[in-house]
Amino acid sequence: MFAVNKPKQNANGGGVGRRDFLRLSLGGLTVLCFPLQGCGRDPDAIAAGPALPIVWIETGICTGCGSSLLDCYAPPVELLLGKLELGFHETLMGHYGVGAMEHLHAFVQAHAGRFALVVDGAIPVGAAAPMTTLGTDAQGIEYSAQELVTTVAASAAAIVALGACACFGGIPGSAPGTGVYVSLTETVGKKVLRIPGCPPNPLWIGTVLDQLVAGVTPDLDDLGRPKAIFGKTVHELCPRLPKFEAQSFATSPGDPSKCLLKVGCKGPIARGDCPTRAWHGRSFCIKAGHPCIACTAPGFLDARPSVDGVQVGEEGSAASPFYKEQG
Ligand code: SF4
Ligand code: SF4
Repeated sequence: MFAVNKPKQNANGGGVGRRDFLRLSLGGLTVLCFPLQGCGRDPDAIAAGPALPIVWIETGICTGCGSSLLDCYAPPVELLLGKLELGFHETLMGHYGVGAMEHLHAFVQAHAGRFALVVDGAIPVGAAAPMTTLGTDAQGIEYSAQELVTTVAASAAAIVALGACACFGGIPGSAPGTGVYVSLTETVGKKVLRIPGCPPNPLWIGTVLDQLVAGVTPDLDDLGRPKAIFGKTVHELCPRLPKFEAQSFATSPGDPSKCLLKVGCKGPIARGDCPTRAWHGRSFCIKAGHPCIACTAPGFLDARPSVDGVQVGEEGSAASPFYKEQG
């Protein structure tokens, strides 16, 4: 049904070169597996439009947000990446070492006031700042993430915090890292568009980046999150809400239908259209039987709310290795 050309031998005589691998994994698989759905703009309109200069800085990261970007299929990531004029991205760029820093400085100068800055990862500050050093320039000056992000943000037209860590401190910024790793907003002190999540849904990333490419600023809530995505809580949209209202609570994670509040579900404090948009249009945490850990909320991971007098996690914590309870 689908003709796949035999990959050319690479320079070392191997079977699949880097270009072939990227083409097959990004282009082939995403298009083969998922229909184009939920795309805000017609792909032809995206292809015909201008590109957006972007500086993308990864700070204290696990690379999950970048991996999620590569999972975007609406718009198709290969089309989206073609419209992002990436001046800097530690994982995706070809430049390295001093050359990468020189290119970054030249790019920021050339596009001052016209480029978007995207940051994923929490940022160590103060005495801890040198823990994340991102490069050295031709004069031998080392740039910490804090310095580099602050410098670049001063010339950016738009600033995007991508993922729980850049938005609110995330896993590095939760106890006992509180105050050591902080969010992008705390670092640059400027208005920031936030796309929270650990990682954010690929379609959240693709939708917002496509809007920025099109010159559209999404309608944002008080915390800078797009209302179209984060306007309601997971709890409000949850298919198990009738079980919550009937006080039908699961006593162990993995329960296929009961409300997961007492085994740690934080859906009432998490905003996001996870239940309706889902991941790859198929599933999300609670549908898979796992409590929502509120990865889109401020306070992730430390928040421990009670809802209508019921303590979240009353029956014990969820099974996730990322979930922890503070006594
Ligand atoms: S507490 Fe969690 S599982 Fe229960 S209804 Fe709310 S979001 Fe769904
Ligand atoms: S359901 Fe909760 S934990 Fe899962 S992605 Fe949505 S906000 Fe994050």
